[in-house]
Amino acid sequence: MSEHPGKPPLAPDLIERFAAIVGPRNALTDPGLIEAYLQEPRDLFPGHATLVLRPGSVGEVSDILKLASETRTPIVPQGGNTGLVGGQSTRSPGEVLVNLSRLDRVRDVDPLGRTMTLEAGVVLEKAQAVAEEAGLFFPLSLGSQGSCQVGGNLASNAGGTGVLAYGNTRELCLGIEAVLASGEVFHGLRRLKKDNRGYDLRDLLVGSEGTLGIITAAVLKLFPKPAGREVAYVGLGSPRAALDLLKRAERQAGGQLTAFELMPRIGMEFTIRHTQGARDPLDAPHRWYVLIEISSNRSAADARDTLEAILAEAFEAGTVEDAAVAQSLTDAATFWKMREEMSWAQKPEGGSIKHDVAVPVARVADFLEAADRAVLEAMPGARIVAFGHLGDGNIHYNISQPVGADKAAFLSRWKEMNRIVHAIVAEMDGTFSAEHGIGLLKRDELAETKQGVEIKLMRGVKRLFDPYDILNPGKLVQI
Ligand code: FAD
Repeated sequence: MSEHPGKPPLAPDLIERFAAIVGPRNALTDPGLIEAYLQEPRDLFPGHATLVLRPGSVGEVSDILKLASETRTPIVPQGGNTGLVGGQSTRSPGEVLVNLSRLDRVRDVDPLGRTMTLEAGVVLEKAQAVAEEAGLFFPLSLGSQGSCQVGGNLASNAGGTGVLAYGNTRELCLGIEAVLASGEVFHGLRRLKKDNRGYDLRDLLVGSEGTLGIITAAVLKLFPKPAGREVAYVGLGSPRAALDLLKRAERQAGGQLTAFELMPRIGMEFTIRHTQGARDPLDAPHRWYVLIEISSNRSAADARDTLEAILAEAFEAGTVEDAAVAQSLTDAATFWKMREEMSWAQKPEGGSIKHDVAVPVARVADFLEAADRAVLEAMPGARIVAFGHLGDGNIHYNISQPVGADKAAFLSRWKEMNRIVHAIVAEMDGTFSAEHGIGLLKRDELAETKQGVEIKLMRGVKRLFDPYDILNPGKLVQI
């Protein structure tokens, strides 16, 4: 899927001018050192850059963009390089990759106002730890949290397992600082919960995937740390049963329901097969599983009572077949590991065609039944690993190649499978990009399927922010 528009490599004198901004140690040109910045998790978009810049201050980012504007040099912003749609990948040696990892200061923590102000390169796991040290809680949680960065989370409006209770990254952001294509700095690090002074530039920059500006810092919301968090692993017969359990859990727990993740048996088998320390928390196999988490601001006992009441009701109704409640933090970590490793565990099984779809929550079971039928008719033997954030209606509908199939031949059917699955999603008024974004992977589909008026407005916004098309050109929307 690599796209290589063939822009010529950067001239040596231009490389020197960029290098002078960040200093020679942070201007990488050695192919051996650049290599790691060019490989993305899905191996779909191998990068082609000859220059990687690692700015250490907002001023340096600004100078980079001033020079890029003057010389019309395309810039690709990159955070932790964990994006799944190729947004952080360079497409030609004429593009400069700007990696934000060195911009990683904690600027401020305000326990009373419950905010933290972090620079873009702070790794998500560190952001969570900063909140924890302040006795508070930052709920953004992704399988990639050991590497992805706050700037990348904001630029991709990441979702993850906490959306059900706390919202996606956009909802966790109060203020933003970003450098625009001209090099001007947008100073929007506000801490206000209410601010109705016209168009919201913060919300435009969040989710813009590096096409409107380079995010350098943000004010993020913090929450009271739950006093207790209880997790159960539940075995059940179908996604319909899982929806029934969700309804009961929401009714009993309300805002205490902080995760509700669906997993199929085949995903469990892949995870157990390919992950060290992974084990089935239940005694016998089940067709489907749900990881359910209840949090309480009162006490662990309160969380436990709520969880047990939900499970007791669901057992009585015949909704669930078996359940294990974590008895220790180690148990809880093991349960979560099963869910988090499911993304990686598909890789050793060969090619995997991915979908990141969402439908209205009540239609998830209809969607899965219709999609399985259509996919298996088109490709008998396909191994469907449909898992994800059921509470948000967001399913990662992944198709692993049939056992023994040729990987390249299987992957050549990527678009055909996308068409089949996305047509069903569209019929249900859903989306083909729930949380991973558009990048390169879904750019053409976005242009084909969004309303004409939406695309026209999006192109207008892009032209306004980036008149020379130097910020992540060719990603998300083409002008
Ligand atoms: P990158 O991959 O470096 O970049 C992503 C996009 O943001 C690119 O378009 C890039 O140009 C742009 N960008 C990066 N930094 C900046 C900046 N400072 N300013 C402007 N633009 C910038 N995503 C979810 O939403 N939910 C999940 O549950 C989830 N789970 C994942 C699990 C695994 C195992 C993996 C590998 C990925 C997962 N992802 C998930 C995808 C990915 O981790 C997120 O999209 C994450 O937010 C990307 O952050 P990053 O720092 O790695 O950004």
